[in-house]
Amino acid sequence: MQVLSVASEVYPLVKTGGLADVAGALPLALAHHGVRVRTLMPGYPAVMHATRDRTPVMAIADLLGHPAEIVETNHRGLDLLILDCPALFDREGGPYLDAAGKDHADNWRRFAALSRAGALIAQGGMDGWQPDLVHVHDWQAALVPVYMRYATTPEIPSLITIHNIAFQGQYGADIFKHLELPPHAFSIEGVEYFGSVGFLKGGMQASWAISTVSPSYAEEILTPEFGMGLEGLLAHRFDDLVGIVNGIDATVWNPESDAHIAAPYGIGTLKGRAANKRAVEARFGLAPGSGPVFCVISRLTWQKGMDVLAEVLDDLVQLGVRLAVLGSGDRALENVFHAAAARHPGGVALISAYDEPLSHLMQAGCDGIIIPSRFEPCGLTQLYGLRYGCVPIVARTGGLNDTVIDASPAALSARAATGISFGPVTAGNLLRAVRRAVRLYQEPRVWTAMQKQGMKSDVSWDMSAGLYASLYSDLLMRKGA
Ligand code: ADP
Repeated sequence: MQVLSVASEVYPLVKTGGLADVAGALPLALAHHGVRVRTLMPGYPAVMHATRDRTPVMAIADLLGHPAEIVETNHRGLDLLILDCPALFDREGGPYLDAAGKDHADNWRRFAALSRAGALIAQGGMDGWQPDLVHVHDWQAALVPVYMRYATTPEIPSLITIHNIAFQGQYGADIFKHLELPPHAFSIEGVEYFGSVGFLKGGMQASWAISTVSPSYAEEILTPEFGMGLEGLLAHRFDDLVGIVNGIDATVWNPESDAHIAAPYGIGTLKGRAANKRAVEARFGLAPGSGPVFCVISRLTWQKGMDVLAEVLDDLVQLGVRLAVLGSGDRALENVFHAAAARHPGGVALISAYDEPLSHLMQAGCDGIIIPSRFEPCGLTQLYGLRYGCVPIVARTGGLNDTVIDASPAALSARAATGISFGPVTAGNLLRAVRRAVRLYQEPRVWTAMQKQGMKSDVSWDMSAGLYASLYSDLLMRKGA
């Protein structure tokens, strides 16, 4: 089976969040299930610098007003098709934001172009290769099935995966004329969305199936609280909606061989974590001590419940917790954490940066990871936590709910517990959860059992890749029917 995956970020080339991890790891896992994936992504400067031996495979004279080329290469086992279109992608800043931290003004054109190129490939525009199915991720790739739907050539089956329904790619109606779609695509069956153009909405309408990244989140987004306006459309497509939990790349995230950590360890050598804990204390300037070090590795935003955590920082210190925070985002929140760090030197520390190697060390050295998200489609940091014996303390929502087993009395006595969960997300509930964690930490046998149970959880891509492979097969059968 040949699949074209289309994504706006792919680890290890470009990453701003979990989407990149998934787009980078799922193709490798699918290879074990007889699926060959080629991934189309934009040729940002970081991608062009990191890749070598690129071969042109398709020229597009006019891609929404700009000349472009598709070049192919292989990067660390990933079969990549790179959209080389300097006018849209060769610029400073990140994939979505400019150097000043503002959205690129033409993001709608950049990602419509990515989608347009994906649709051209899907429909046989490339010499020598055509996929059987196309799998697109998030709003940035969501117009692929839309372009296929309104083209004259027959469409192939499509799947759209929603990694976060909060990001929908919604733009004023005035951009519609530039998308090169027929006028009737500006309709309820097409991209029209409350009078504007909705990329994600259009993609959800046109895709043969819709998936999201955990079963709980698939249920939650059917409600007004989580559906962000798209719950009605989802209810309509209910039969085509499925939740498949993300896995992690267990070769990148393996405490036995991780080059980013101070000392390797495994489930039988948990004592080896101590050296990593010392290294975390040193990096963050935390006072050495025998109590727990908990961490946060996150975008500092409202979604992630960071304002709720900020409310209880003084209480955590009172409980004897030392807290290491790695993250950036909301300036006001960053300031709150900096202020807490100033009030509690050695007790609370913030490194406001995006630092992939440090995130590995923290998972290896901290005793627990706090994830108080208001909503969490899947969440990856709790999965890394499980694999590294860094006990997750999580809000009971979305993928956090599907992957962490709360230390209830029943779960503890069955030795099934892998973490602590709480809800709804309020300061009081978060504080109670951390208090519970501290109490469990003070019983080393119980805590170690939880760590080990977490490390035994299957957080690999194996099972989920199998679910994607059978979903692909179902869609291909539907095509044949
Ligand atoms: P989201 O995609 O909503 O940001 P996820 O938990 O799905 O949340 O994925 C976040 C990814 O980004 C994880 O791989 C996490 O380790 C990583 N990450 C988040 N913030 C940082 C940071 N400041 N430094 C390094 N890695 C980070």
